[in-house]
Amino acid sequence: MRRRDLMLAGAALASLTSLPAHAQAQAPAGWRRSRVVVVGGGIGGATAARYLRLWSGHTLDVVLVDPQDRFVSCPMSNLVLGGFTSLETLTRPMATLDAAGVRRVQDIATHIDTERRLVMLARGDPLRYDRLIVSPGIDLDWSSVAGLEAAHGAGRILQAWKAGPETLALRRQLEAMPDGGVFALTIPEAPYRCPPGPYERASVVAAWMKKARPRSKLLVLDANPDITSKAALFRKVWAERYAGLLEYRPLHKAVAVETGSGPGGTVRFELQSPERADVLNVLPAMQAGSIAREAGLVGRIGAAGGRWCPVEYLTFASSQAPGVQVIGDAIQVAPAMPKSGHMANAHAKVAAAALLSELAGLPPDLQPMLTNTCYSHVDGGEVIHVASVHRYLAQERTYRTVPGSGGVSDGPSERESRYAWHWARTLWQDMLG
Ligand SMILES: Cc1cc2nc3c(=O)[nH]c(=O)nc-3n(C[C@H](O)[C@H](O)[C@H](O)COP(=O)(O)OP(=O)(O)OC[C@H]3O[C@@H](n4cnc5c(N)ncnc54)[C@H](O)[C@@H]3O)c2cc1C
Repeated sequence: MRRRDLMLAGAALASLTSLPAHAQAQAPAGWRRSRVVVVGGGIGGATAARYLRLWSGHTLDVVLVDPQDRFVSCPMSNLVLGGFTSLETLTRPMATLDAAGVRRVQDIATHIDTERRLVMLARGDPLRYDRLIVSPGIDLDWSSVAGLEAAHGAGRILQAWKAGPETLALRRQLEAMPDGGVFALTIPEAPYRCPPGPYERASVVAAWMKKARPRSKLLVLDANPDITSKAALFRKVWAERYAGLLEYRPLHKAVAVETGSGPGGTVRFELQSPERADVLNVLPAMQAGSIAREAGLVGRIGAAGGRWCPVEYLTFASSQAPGVQVIGDAIQVAPAMPKSGHMANAHAKVAAAALLSELAGLPPDLQPMLTNTCYSHVDGGEVIHVASVHRYLAQERTYRTVPGSGGVSDGPSERESRYAWHWARTLWQDMLG
């Protein structure tokens, strides 16, 4: 089968649930006899698993390893902190992937032997793979802020940077905060998961505080020299809506926390004076999920040193191990590439297409494109967005944003909030079916 035919077949088959037997017989042998294991069933991993099944006409054996049986979306989860939506609204069963024929293994990958091509599991037998896709998201680097791991363990200082029970726990801390109290949110140096996420969080919590705790204060203590995404828009919204309530301070790199017997405590900075707050939401530095680091997929030198997984951007093949692709937040990003769900979904499709081509004995698409849109709520009902298109440049072996593509909103609007909800539901359906 020629490459173009293959792609057309893939596209045409994307909506079918099963192939007639004669069509299966025509599928490339590499698809019929290979097993792909995907570690991590979040936005990147679930999308990759589902599209591998769809684009192979349901002939490829695809196994997805994740301990969860329900997906809880980080996108839109800041609204839960502002009391504007519920966590259930953002939760979807992963069992819908079964309809695409993805074999789900509800377990934790504890080790990957990239030489013998085995994924070890916490409970089950090791899984053999021909090809492996790793999408474990991020881990928080507790060592970057002294005292934080213990404060988190005791439930005093929460992060809620992986949506779930901790999101609800942080909401409860906010609800328990007295009027006149201080909520402080610290932001690590970029790159971190979801560049606009902390500023969206500050905005929606400020919207809630303005009504429910009007005498309170919200401190945004940012390790970066400026707001890292949609800076002018956030600045304008904060000046117009939350002046006197929300205070933004750049160049505040959190290095230590101290707590007492209840929530909150004191946060210390590399250079600036310490701050006390009744509710502290300290986001430490981030890194690739531990399984990627443990499997030796993290770079040792250069910008990725010790934190993120370097990949060949054309196919998302790991630069560290053969037969492995890494996608999503765990990778060392290309210039101007955000660590976002939209981007993880786009990585997954490029990686899946490249893998199917390889298994069929064909070259990958030599000009892959990625898109990204990040919507941010500025209160319960209005949104701003930033969008970008990223093109692979063969001579540079990386992605660059396409000049003139994308852009940002003129200002917040309810219409964009509707777009944001449609975007989120479409993403959940695209990844889970
Ligand atoms: C508050 C907040 C708001 C956000 N808003 C947006 C937004 O509006 N738009 C947007 O595009 N992005 C947004 N994001 C970012 C988005 O959530 C992430 O970029 C995206 O989830 C990355 O996908 P991923 O597959 O890399 O990781 P994840 O989606 O986190 O998936 C990782 C999966 O791997 C599994 N896993 C980890 N280790 C193992 C293991 N050892 N074995 C088996 N499974 C394992 C986990 O259980 C998890 O299911 C937001 C993030 C936050 C925190």
